[in-house]
Amino acid sequence: MKISVIGTGTMGFALADRMLFSGFDVTAWNRSSSKADPLVTKGAALAATPSEAVSGAQIVLSSLKDDAALREVLLPLPGHMPADAVLCDTSTISPGLAEELASTYAAAGRMFVHAPVLGSKRQIAEGSLLVFASGSQHAVDVLDPVLGVLARRVWRFDEPGRAAALKLACNMMIAGMICALSQSLAYGAKLGVDPELFLDVIQSSNLASPMYQSKGRQILDRNWAANFFVDNIVKDITLALDSAEEAGVQMPVIAVIRQMFAAASASGFGHEDYSAVSKVFEEIAGITPG
Ligand code: NAP
Repeated sequence: MKISVIGTGTMGFALADRMLFSGFDVTAWNRSSSKADPLVTKGAALAATPSEAVSGAQIVLSSLKDDAALREVLLPLPGHMPADAVLCDTSTISPGLAEELASTYAAAGRMFVHAPVLGSKRQIAEGSLLVFASGSQHAVDVLDPVLGVLARRVWRFDEPGRAAALKLACNMMIAGMICALSQSLAYGAKLGVDPELFLDVIQSSNLASPMYQSKGRQILDRNWAANFFVDNIVKDITLALDSAEEAGVQMPVIAVIRQMFAAASASGFGHEDYSAVSKVFEEIAGITPG
């Protein structure tokens, strides 16, 4: 089966790698070709342009940074795809753009699936992503062999905007959880609570979450190595706030949380792991971590 991957950043590279590992015939394209080069030694072909990449594909997987990148790269593509090919975009984008892409592809007689994912490159390598696949029944069925090696669970949706909104709702939870953890750690540190003891108590309680354990450990170890950056969270909260405003939904809490991540970005932590937002909570608590 011929798979093309458009965008080989953190997620797209892992997708292409997983496709090669699973025995698919892979062609990749990335704006900065150097990021796709290492895929060649693993057996991939490289395309010089997105249209060249999709021209012989049965399935196209895309993972691009944001709405602007998708507009630039994906909106002009349907005419270059074979008539029975499916483009499956896994990026985190606005519900409005997800709907616009679906109607653009439908108008050109091409199949489009918006399939935002929960999980990062480790989950791609393990085949344990959670996928919100939205599009026609037939289009999602065509993706079965690919989703079978990528996902632990797939939820299907008719409306692409709903899949996009669900993904943003999940990322707002992630942003809120890391801020709640960071705030309590900073407060505890200021008042003399042992942070290791705090994490132990959380883990033993009804609040226990793998996320609190792994991110708590990362914060205590001062390890900001990232798959998912502070700036990714700023982008996703901004998309959520914009779509909430269009829908007339008030979200005062996430608006404050966005300011904490924006402050982290302004402090130079934009390309650190999103748990680096904890440094902003420490700063305003007047804490210098040991
Ligand atoms: P990334 O490492 O920053 O990669 C971004 C990709 O987008 C790169 O291939 C980049 O190309 C490309 N790009 C950006 N602007 C472009 C443009 N104008 N034209 C063409 N290509 C452009 O990001 P990522 O972490 O892989 O994330 C990709 C998407 O998945 C995002 O929507 C993100 O929110 C979502 N996501 C990420 C994670 C995660 O854990 N990282 C998890 C779930 C979902 P260049 O290399 O040329 O810059």
